[in-house]
Amino acid sequence: MGLAAGTIPQAISKRGFRRWYERELLSGHANLVLLIVATLGAMGALEAFSFEDSDHLVLIASMVTAAVVGAWALRRYFTVLMRAELIANQAVCGECQTYGRFEVEHGEHQAMQVCCRGCGHRWRVEW
Ligand SMILES: [Zn+2]
Repeated sequence: MGLAAGTIPQAISKRGFRRWYERELLSGHANLVLLIVATLGAMGALEAFSFEDSDHLVLIASMVTAAVVGAWALRRYFTVLMRAELIANQAVCGECQTYGRFEVEHGEHQAMQVCCRGCGHRWRVEW
């Protein structure tokens, strides 16, 4: 199939929708863990400011890094989960109401043409 490597249609085609969806939820929540680690790092650096002979420049650099990583992780968290939900909401076959059992026939940047494995009904999924 001519699905571009590394894209959502290719990933769904390879693993099946349900397993793709589970993985998306896991990777989405991994960003939440990263956010917590970044927050703890920033708090640690903040606390170290009160230590004698602490290098303030290093601490400021650590806090900026933690803030950037944390903001990125938060953004990824929402992006991944919202996209997974958006696609999951369109994963039901309009003919036989089967959830998440379809073949990807054609993939685009933010859409794909899918075909129900149960009844052969075709529809378009967008995100
Ligand atoms: Zn169907």
